[in-house]
Amino acid sequence: MHKRRVEYWSAMANERARCPVEGCIHVGDIITKAHLRLEHGMTREQVEKQYGRPYRVIAKTGVMLEA
Ligand SMILES: [Zn+2]
Repeated sequence: MHKRRVEYWSAMANERARCPVEGCIHVGDIITKAHLRLEHGMTREQVEKQYGRPYRVIAKTGVMLEA
């Protein structure tokens, strides 16, 4: 099933962005360059080329669901 991606590296209202790197469950309002560098040792450009942009998730009753 096709997963929706955020337009850029930050999420819209009522949504969060999940790091696209395989196996990473980091979720935030924005996937920062610092997260990618510290956790994955990669730049946004490298991550986007290899994994694509972050996934959209919706905050609902405290549970993060795939959008
Ligand atoms: Zn990550």
